Amino acid sequence: MKLVVAFLASVALAVPAAAQVPADTVDPTVPTQLPRTAVPHHYAITVTPHAERLTFDGTVAIDLDVTKPTRELVLNAADLRLTSATLRPAKSGASVPARITLDAKAQTATLAFPRLIAAGVYRLDIRYSGKINTQANGLFALDYKNLEGKDARSLFTQFEAADARRFVPSWDEPDYKATFDLTARVPANTMAVGNMPAASSKPLPGGLKEVRFQTTPIMSSYLLFFADGDFDRITKPAGGREVGIVMSRGNGPKAQLALDSEAEILPYYNDYFGTPYPLPKLDNVAGPGQSQFFGAMENWGAIFTFERILLNDPAITSESERQAIFGVEAHEMAHQWFGDLVTMAWWGDIWLNEGFASWMANKATEHFHPDWGADIDHVAAREGAMGQDSFKSTHPIVQDVRTVEQANQAFDAITYSKGESVLSMLEGFAGPDVWRSGIQSYIRKHAYQNTKTEDLWNAMEGAGATGLGTIARDFTSQPGIPLIQAGPSQCAGGRTVVTVTQSQFSNDQRTEVAAHPRAWHVPVRASAGGPTSQVVTQGSTSQLQLQGCGPLLINAGQTGYYRTLYQPAQAQALEAAFGALGAVDQYGVMNDQLALSNAGYQPMGVGLDFLSAVPANGNSKLVQSALRHWSGLYDDLESDPAARAQIASRVIHLYGPRMQQLGFAPRAGEPAVDALLRSTLIGTLGKFKDPTVLAESKRLFTAWQANSNAVPGSLKQTWLGVIARNADEATWNAIHAKAQAATGSVERTSLYELLGSTTDEALARRALDLALTDEPGKTTSAGIITEVAGEHPRMAVDFVLAHLAQVNQLVDISGRSRFMQRLAGGSNDASLVATLEAYASANLAASDRKPIDQAVDRIRFESGKLPRVRSETAAWLAAHPA
Ligand SMILES: [Zn+2]
Repeated sequence: MKLVVAFLASVALAVPAAAQVPADTVDPTVPTQLPRTAVPHHYAITVTPHAERLTFDGTVAIDLDVTKPTRELVLNAADLRLTSATLRPAKSGASVPARITLDAKAQTATLAFPRLIAAGVYRLDIRYSGKINTQANGLFALDYKNLEGKDARSLFTQFEAADARRFVPSWDEPDYKATFDLTARVPANTMAVGNMPAASSKPLPGGLKEVRFQTTPIMSSYLLFFADGDFDRITKPAGGREVGIVMSRGNGPKAQLALDSEAEILPYYNDYFGTPYPLPKLDNVAGPGQSQFFGAMENWGAIFTFERILLNDPAITSESERQAIFGVEAHEMAHQWFGDLVTMAWWGDIWLNEGFASWMANKATEHFHPDWGADIDHVAAREGAMGQDSFKSTHPIVQDVRTVEQANQAFDAITYSKGESVLSMLEGFAGPDVWRSGIQSYIRKHAYQNTKTEDLWNAMEGAGATGLGTIARDFTSQPGIPLIQAGPSQCAGGRTVVTVTQSQFSNDQRTEVAAHPRAWHVPVRASAGGPTSQVVTQGSTSQLQLQGCGPLLINAGQTGYYRTLYQPAQAQALEAAFGALGAVDQYGVMNDQLALSNAGYQPMGVGLDFLSAVPANGNSKLVQSALRHWSGLYDDLESDPAARAQIASRVIHLYGPRMQQLGFAPRAGEPAVDALLRSTLIGTLGKFKDPTVLAESKRLFTAWQANSNAVPGSLKQTWLGVIARNADEATWNAIHAKAQAATGSVERTSLYELLGSTTDEALARRALDLALTDEPGKTTSAGIITEVAGEHPRMAVDFVLAHLAQVNQLVDISGRSRFMQRLAGGSNDASLVATLEAYASANLAASDRKPIDQAVDRIRFESGKLPRVRSETAAWLAAHPA
């Protein structure tokens, strides 16, 4: 959520004016916080940042239609000081000055006029000033050490969902699309970046210059972007446009991977969407630092991405981060169509942006990097979504959003991952060609406009996906997860016949949803040793007729968004045939069966049988997932050291050989998924105190203290993670000293966060105290607190509550209500429930409690299931010695 003077040479492609639809098509049924009395068409903004003082001055001239006679205009403004506002008719007539009233809570400015303003076309001129924030909201500053090791500061903007109003008084809602002219007065020796290429740059007195950017196409206010700093920019031609990466001076070599990826993806998307990317250039701007809530933002023509997932630094970038550079760019670039060119009319449909971009990024990854296991990542997204969707505090994909805070909270696993999963299921139902044809007609029809979810289904049905709308509406308008329960299989004449009953899966309302399940039309794909068949369930029972009498596999291919409860004999047969399943099915079945066991639908033993069926030489991503499950069980069995020891020795015995086979250091030319598995193996075996891993970590730590390059860069965070987790005071102090000496922003942040990851309580307390000092840096401190919460959630929550005002300065304004959820939500400490309830009552409006409700539901479930999980797991371990 970026132009440069060097950029003046860029291609000048005009945006097709004929395609721009006037914004007075604003839909009266779309929710709004603003009275529908005026519609803006064009903003001319001039901004003068004072980076040293963290303030800025601005002027804006807004061309608008007053749609009905009114004495006042209400628009959005937050943390701005408006010094004057005047309205004058576009054609002729006198300026009318307004009396300005600000409402901080509603984030609005009301401009009252001395007489009734007639409907018509006007220009509204406002002079104002505002704050430069130190977290990623509105116009914000990120500090770092430059190439010479000196303190430096760059400026960026982040406006989604509702923070353009911190930069410019505006109709800051997505359906008020308008064109934007941005002019910035900045130091003569910096590089200013906007959505569009610069139209002109001229020197000003006092060492300044004035950069004026070309007019944007018609777009939503949240997509506006500005950055200024001591930047370099590298570029490439791609897809008939210019793609570029902007980063702090000297970091160009680290940006090459991102630039190459961007240049690959753009022509691929031009082709897939059928409508070419419409702006003359597409930059991706790297910012030092981080947010606890987002990694990148799809500003049209100027994506913003934090350095960690944009710059490839051989000294620190891990393999998963290297893959994220491609994946995050693919996500933000998909938004250039889904979100920027075609925009949801209101935040309740934000999934249209996020679910789609997540799904599309996965598709691009599968296309360009078929060896990265993106097919399994789809199933991982399903599991991530179900992790939230299985609680009563979940919500439908299409949400009811009324407040700014609710809009901020809408960016969650349901929006992203359930959105992605349901789109995968629907593409499977429609077939990829019909699906793509539907996408292309949707983009063509709604370009430069706003849409609702229904518009997408209409486009799909129009393209030939008959019946898709019925399924799609069931999965997007109601929350929750269908449960498909298989009846006994009957084999006759070489065919398997099974009746399946549809119910609903829930972690915390098992009885209630069984009595009154929601109903979905579920496309169920299944096999029994032969080819896969599909039926769409109608009503509560359906019949599957499958060729073959082999093991029954429901949700074959794993694109279905539902859980499957088998008969015990069917589960046993499937487990016996586990090795013959494809990796995607192995991954999906194991996670599905463990979730059913964890929720109490079947004994823990069924899930554990599938978990232990994962072979040591299995698919790398499957083994990673198995290791995470063993690690979670290890945490659950905290009170049973004997059972814990059994898990540790079992995992070391089973997967130690895989570790040895992969080796402790990266190997040239190895599959990328093996590099990921190596990291997970080191982390898990280190947690289980595998002596060979601990010995290697000690050896590397000693070498690293003398020479920072002694640990391979792609494994630095992994090995240091093992060391920091098990650190004594001397080790902790040594990491702290390295953090103080580090100059690269990503490495520095990473080292400070490691200080919070220790299991030692006293050292964790020191990390918390350190987070409240100026030392780690403005965007690092919250990361330290988050790390502490991983091992010591109660300690982190109590600390934040004791220093709430200070901690609030360390997180994005838009994320404050979610930070506490982040800290506590992974815990199984039932005592946190009352603490969270009290925090919500004291600090959050009733309408904004959802993140806390979600954390509470999760903690209740996790703590409530512990006695059963512990006793059943211990019994299973005893009966199944490694
Ligand atoms: Zn996104």
